[in-house]
Amino acid sequence: MLIKDILKTAPADSSMEIKGWVRTRRDAKGFSFIEINDGSCRLNLQVVAQSGMKNFDSLVLKLTTGCAVRFTGKLTSSPAKGQEVEFLADDLEVYGWAPAESYPLQKKRHSFEFLRDINHLRPRTNSIAAVMRIRSSLAMAVHLFFHEQSFIQIHTPVITTSDCEGAGEMFTVTTLDPLAKVSKPPYSADFFGRQAGLTVSGQLEAEAYALALGRVYTFGPTFRAENSNTSRHLAEFWMIEPEMAFFDLQMSIDLAEDFLKYLVNHALDNCQEDLELFEKFVDKNLRTRLETVITDKFARVSYSEAIEILNASGQTFAYPVAWGTDLQSEHERFLTEVVFKKPTVVTNYPASIKPFYMRLNEDENTVAAMDVLLPSIGEIIGGSQREDRYEVLENRMTEHGVDLDDYQWYLDLRRYGSAPHAGFGLGFERLVQFITGMANIRDVIAFPRTPGRA
Ligand code: ATP
Ligand code: MN
Repeated sequence: MLIKDILKTAPADSSMEIKGWVRTRRDAKGFSFIEINDGSCRLNLQVVAQSGMKNFDSLVLKLTTGCAVRFTGKLTSSPAKGQEVEFLADDLEVYGWAPAESYPLQKKRHSFEFLRDINHLRPRTNSIAAVMRIRSSLAMAVHLFFHEQSFIQIHTPVITTSDCEGAGEMFTVTTLDPLAKVSKPPYSADFFGRQAGLTVSGQLEAEAYALALGRVYTFGPTFRAENSNTSRHLAEFWMIEPEMAFFDLQMSIDLAEDFLKYLVNHALDNCQEDLELFEKFVDKNLRTRLETVITDKFARVSYSEAIEILNASGQTFAYPVAWGTDLQSEHERFLTEVVFKKPTVVTNYPASIKPFYMRLNEDENTVAAMDVLLPSIGEIIGGSQREDRYEVLENRMTEHGVDLDDYQWYLDLRRYGSAPHAGFGLGFERLVQFITGMANIRDVIAFPRTPGRA
C-alpha cells in the first residue's frame, strides 16, 4: 500500500507491507524508529522496530538514510503526538543499501545549488519531490481546464522548419557531419532536405488547426538557444499554447485570466500538504501571493500607459524606459509588485518590437499583443490576436525579412477562410515557480537544460 493511502484511510491493526526509502533512523532502548517515505506524499510513515523482531541486529541497526526497504507488520494507532498511525514491524527486507560514507544526501537540509549537481538523486529530497507532485497535478489541471472549455489538444511537431519567434534562437537538427569545415552547411543534402530545428513555439502550427477545429491547445516541450543565464529561462521548457478561432484580444485576455485563476485554485484545493512545505521553508507570503490571483480582477494597462507610469514613478532602473523599447523584467516586476500589486496585463505593444504575426492595430504603430505579468515572476504569458488580413500579413512578413516562400502554407490560412483568431503561450515552469515560490526555474523541472549544461 502507498503511504499516502495508509495515512488517509488508516485501517488500524491490519497486517500489511510497506515499501520505500529510509529518511532517518533513531534508536531508543529496545527500539528503533525509522521514518519511511515512498514518494506518494510529503509525509513519512514512522516504523517502530522492536529489538525482538526478525533481522533487528542484522538489518535494522544498519539502516541509514537512503536505503530502499520493505517492512512487513501492522498499522497501529500511534501514542506519539502529531501522528495518527505508526507501523509496528515484524520483518525487514533491504532492497538496496546506501552507504553513508558515499551517499550524497544526508539528514540535514541541502542547498538547491548543491542539489543541482546531483539531479538524479535530488527527487529524494522533500522539496524537489513536492515540486514534482505539484507540477504533475498542475499538468493534469491544464488538460482539465481545456477539456471543460471544449478545447482540442493538438500535438504540434518538435522538429520544425519555422522559426516562429524569428529571433534566431532555434537549435538546428541535422545529420550532417558536424566536423566538416564549411562556411554554409549544405542543408539541401541534410536529412529533411532543408534546415530544420527544434520548435521554439507550436503557435503557427496550432493556428492551422484552430482555423479548422475552433479551439485548440498544445502542451509540449519548447527549445530556445537563448543565452540567458537567468533564474527564469531554460533552454528546454514546456509551454501551453491555446489558439482560438473567432476570439479577439479581449476574449483571449479573459481566457488567460480564467486559466490562471483555475490553476491556482486547483493547487490550493489539491496540493495543500505540499504547498505547506513551501510556505514554511521557501516563501512565507506564498498563500497571500496566490490569493491575489484568485480574488482580484487582474489589472489591465496599455503598453503606452505602462511607459508613462514607469517614467513618472521616479524609480531608477538599470535599463532606461522609453516608448519603443521592450519592457525588461525589472520594469515588469515594478508594475505588478509596486504599482498594481496584483497580476497585470499589458496590451498593445509597439509593432516594431513584436513578431510579424501579431495583428496590426488601427494606429498602425502598435499590435494587439498582451503579456500577463505576475508578482515575483514577471512575464508568465505572452500572446496576441493574430494578423488575419492577407495583405497586411504579407507586408509585415516582408518588413521582418521573412522568406515568403517558406511561409506560403501560413499565408494560405489567410487566403482561404481566414477568420479572426487569437492565442497565447504560458511557460509551464514559470507557473510552477510562481505556485511553489521556488526562486530558480532549474529547480522546478526534472533535468534542467541551460547554457553549458545538459
Ligand atoms: P522572456 O521575455 O521572459 O524571455 P518571451 O517574450 O521570450 O519571454 P514568449 O516568446 O512570449 O516569451 O513565450 C511565452 C511564454 O513562455 C513566456 O511568457 C514565458 O512564460 C515562457 N518562456 C519563454 N522563454 C522561456 C525560457 N527560455 N524558459 C522558460 N520559459 C520561457
Ligand atoms: Mn525570451
